[in-house]
Amino acid sequence: MAVPKKKVSKSRRDMRRSHHGLSAAAYEECPNCGELKRPHHVCAACGHYNGREVLEAADAS
Ligand SMILES: [Zn+2]
Repeated sequence: MAVPKKKVSKSRRDMRRSHHGLSAAAYEECPNCGELKRPHHVCAACGHYNGREVLEAADAS
């Protein structure tokens, strides 16, 4: 079995983990209703995508 030759120092371990952080999810305003939605996703509030309705509106308000 392959075994590491040297103990990884706390500094080196933490430098490796410097890329492990989570970033906040991206949101943009729906051009139809102004509700926040994920980019490239159908709007959950009005069911629109790319200028037309592709789904029933989630709530009939
Ligand atoms: Zn919308």
